[in-house]
Amino acid sequence: MKHLQLSTQDGHATLTFDREGSSANIFDSDALNELLDVLTQIENDVSIESLQIRSNKPRIFIAGADIHSLMSSTPGELAAMIDLGHEAFQRLEALKIPTIATIHGACLGGGYELALACDWRIASDDRCTKIGLPETKLGILPAWGGSTRLPKLIGLPNALPLILSGKVLSASGAKIKKLIDEVVPKEHMASVAAKFLSRGKREPSPHPILHNPASARIIETQARKDIIKRTRGLYPAPLKALEVACQSVHNSAEVSFQKERDTVIELASQPETARLIDIFFLSEKAKKFKLPDVTPQELEQPVVLGSGVMGAGIAYWLSSHGYSVLLQDINNDALAKGMANIGDQYAKAVTRHITSKAAAHKNFDRIHANAEKVPLHNRDLIIEAAVENLAVKKKIFADLSVRCSEDCILATNTSALPIHELAEVVTNPGRIVGLHFFNPVHRMPLVEVVRAPSTSKQTLATAIRFVQRIGKIPVVVKDSPGFLVNRILMPYLLEACRIFASGIDPVQIDEAMLDFGMPMGPLRLLDEVGLDVGSHVAETLIAAYPEHMSMPPLMDEMIEYGHLGRKSGKGFYRYDGKIPVPNPEALELRENRDAPDEKIADRLAHLMSEEAARCLDEEIADSPASIDFAMVMGTGYAPFRGGPLHHADATHMMRPDFYPTLHQKTG
Ligand code: NAD
Repeated sequence: MKHLQLSTQDGHATLTFDREGSSANIFDSDALNELLDVLTQIENDVSIESLQIRSNKPRIFIAGADIHSLMSSTPGELAAMIDLGHEAFQRLEALKIPTIATIHGACLGGGYELALACDWRIASDDRCTKIGLPETKLGILPAWGGSTRLPKLIGLPNALPLILSGKVLSASGAKIKKLIDEVVPKEHMASVAAKFLSRGKREPSPHPILHNPASARIIETQARKDIIKRTRGLYPAPLKALEVACQSVHNSAEVSFQKERDTVIELASQPETARLIDIFFLSEKAKKFKLPDVTPQELEQPVVLGSGVMGAGIAYWLSSHGYSVLLQDINNDALAKGMANIGDQYAKAVTRHITSKAAAHKNFDRIHANAEKVPLHNRDLIIEAAVENLAVKKKIFADLSVRCSEDCILATNTSALPIHELAEVVTNPGRIVGLHFFNPVHRMPLVEVVRAPSTSKQTLATAIRFVQRIGKIPVVVKDSPGFLVNRILMPYLLEACRIFASGIDPVQIDEAMLDFGMPMGPLRLLDEVGLDVGSHVAETLIAAYPEHMSMPPLMDEMIEYGHLGRKSGKGFYRYDGKIPVPNPEALELRENRDAPDEKIADRLAHLMSEEAARCLDEEIADSPASIDFAMVMGTGYAPFRGGPLHHADATHMMRPDFYPTLHQKTG
């Protein structure tokens, strides 16, 4: 066998999954056929009393199905593949002996569906252990029994939020939701597994009250409303998964499995699914991306300069990923504020079961806050996150150049300032790079790795590696005003402000973009970012691109009158009640012109696509796919639309003669 090994000792069998030639365990037809062979062996061997399933990979239990082969299949091939998985997992479930999945590392999709077919499931408390059914995020549904078995295990109301959102949980989160039976340190997994196996087969736990037809109907109606509210009906997968999961509690397993299969075949042919899968593959590629012919250095000793919104966010993130961090600011008050924010962030992570209390304490203690000019010559990475002011940053970098060793990487988190100007004030400018994290750092997966003209290949490779190591997604961009994501976003935000100024209700503008598929409307986003901060970035961009960007006069007026957004309690909306409502004072600042004649969403989306095309022309990123991917990861741009360039192509919104490169490059 290539991927699975069965061993037995004293009647206890252990099945180890260790996919040949790959760092990940995934299920394709080869692996499933091997599983069927192993099951035949077990079924025929009366001396086997129990079965434990484990992985030999350091960070992955089973990552799911081979999405490549699934998506390149014909409907017939896909049906055969789904049937194969059902057969294997049904036979595993039907074994007469007790079975357990001992999960260490990612246990996702088909991996968790295999675990669901076992009697017992235990998981390691390691941070790499992640459990869930993320299929709907890819536009499909759990179709190897997950949509059927999870409701049976934990009840429909508990299973639906997990299936419909595709949320992935930590081991402790999975234990609370009853997806697994126990969380244990990795080194104790075998002994705890033996205890569970000694209990024998698991008794089914029916949910007669929750699953009677009347309550199931109520649960389904409510869940449908929630999906429509959350997705605006733009994504077919959660709605289809809802149908299958709700029907599963009345149908026989066989009928439900058939329903899973028919539905996944239907969803696989939807354009939304193709876009979501593209994004998934781009994300996998970015996580593994390496520059050719250069070995990155491993960075171990980071310093974060500035303990404001971003510095504190970055220090939190690094410490939660095992780094000891030196956090510096100009005075102790600023540092105390930053540390308090980091403490709050850890408290929230504990409440949300992202981390345990003990780990939160340990991680928090890894941050050393210090306002003094301490020696930095042993440090290998500085991430500067001080105020967005070129003169201040130049002073900081000139000072760092003297205080750090020659090969310490000097990174800036600037949103839009020219990095090459910082390179001018340091010795060895090859070590300068931009690491542009997005706000809030713990939520936004993207980091723009900004290459200044002087940035050496070694520095770039090392910065990419560092971003990957801290679990973020790097996209390499050119040192150009606003880099990529802010540049594409800014004309859209400024235009939303202009539409508002012309007399349109802010809710109407934001709703138009929510209906388009953005996670937040542009005016709410400006309120969250802060109009002063937004206008600062806008000024840099307007100075660079005066021919197509300009400041709406209303923006300056709102700032002058203190309507800065959420932080001042009022911006385009007021924030003094439970939910934001349009700010009447801001409404009065508008001129009362006629409503724009174009549809709002088309007009705003067009601006993002147009700017994205300019970025492509100027080679701000290496390909149309990178630009689209960065916008999805950096702003939440409607993933099912594939990104602003893909959207432009799909809707034929752009004149081919205006942006020749776009049409050449996207074909
Ligand atoms: P902030 O105003 O919240 O924090 C800046 C911090 O830097 C303050 O605590 C200040 O005391 C400190 N500081 C000032 N001079 C310093 C010095 N010489 N040495 C060390 N610390 C110093 O600002 P922020 O929002 O955290 O932004 C920081 C950087 O990150 C800026 O360059 C900004 O453009 C960028 N950025 C901000 C966001 C955002 O949404 N806020 C997003 C991405 C990038």
